[in-house]
Amino acid sequence: MVVSVIKMCTISKRFRFSMFFVSVLVINKYFCAQINCKMKTKITMLGTGNALVTKCFNTCFVISTEEGNLLTDAGGGNGVLVQLEKAGIDYRSLNAMFLTHAHTDHILGALWIVRMISTAINRGEYKGIFNIYGHSHLCGLLKMMVTEMLPKKIASEVGKGILINEIGDGEAFEAIGAHFTAFSIHSTKLEQFGYRMEYGDLKLACLGDEPYNEKCADYVKGVDWMLCEAFCLYDDRDRFHPYEKHHSTAKDAGEIASTLDVKNILLYHTEEKTLDTRKERYTAEAKLGFSGRVEVPYDLETVELE
Ligand SMILES: [Zn+2]
Repeated sequence: MVVSVIKMCTISKRFRFSMFFVSVLVINKYFCAQINCKMKTKITMLGTGNALVTKCFNTCFVISTEEGNLLTDAGGGNGVLVQLEKAGIDYRSLNAMFLTHAHTDHILGALWIVRMISTAINRGEYKGIFNIYGHSHLCGLLKMMVTEMLPKKIASEVGKGILINEIGDGEAFEAIGAHFTAFSIHSTKLEQFGYRMEYGDLKLACLGDEPYNEKCADYVKGVDWMLCEAFCLYDDRDRFHPYEKHHSTAKDAGEIASTLDVKNILLYHTEEKTLDTRKERYTAEAKLGFSGRVEVPYDLETVELE
């Protein structure tokens, strides 16, 4: 009798002990899922300036989800590698790259990204396939640049570990766990694509580096984030001549976002003469016609998208 009571006590102690650990694990897992451990979807701006800037970098950025990193555009030659390094993003962690158009401030760094990732693949330091997306003219140009300008061993990785995917207007693709739809922004200068990204509840539209065109309304309406250019302030239009350069202003961006029921906007591709006051003044001007959140990030700034 005494022995079995002692046994029961021991079992009960063990049981309580293991239950305590199970509870700790369950609570830990629950809170991890709810609070900390789910990585928030974010955008890291590698550059925020227009084509001719020297005091900040050409506009390009990394969108990060739990599933990976997608780089949009790659300006300024191998400077894009410096920006990635400064932002603390290992280029080997990039899974995909979307190129909007073939202007120098958006495409020249792409060659360096291909070069570095191809080298990493050859060294066994890169996991998976690196996918590049762009319209057919741009993809043709990039393939030609890769063939003509990179060593054979590096160029030969294109078509194997690095895929250059030609996409059409309105065509969808999957990357970093998200659903993307590429669309023509109806550029007046050179063929250019933007994209709509859907990731869980998050909807985002990237309008490239030219003013919004009404033909893109279906892709942009109601998104949580509209990423778009604001060459300068409307107040400074006589100084920077945005409209003559087929660009627009912070005020225009705010008004468009308001018409399209966009929740938040992020402005980029700006002049660099007013960098010191850019965040405050651009935000204030965009907010004149828009009640949502306005982000005017510095180079290397990260903004959480959810
Ligand atoms: Zn540009």
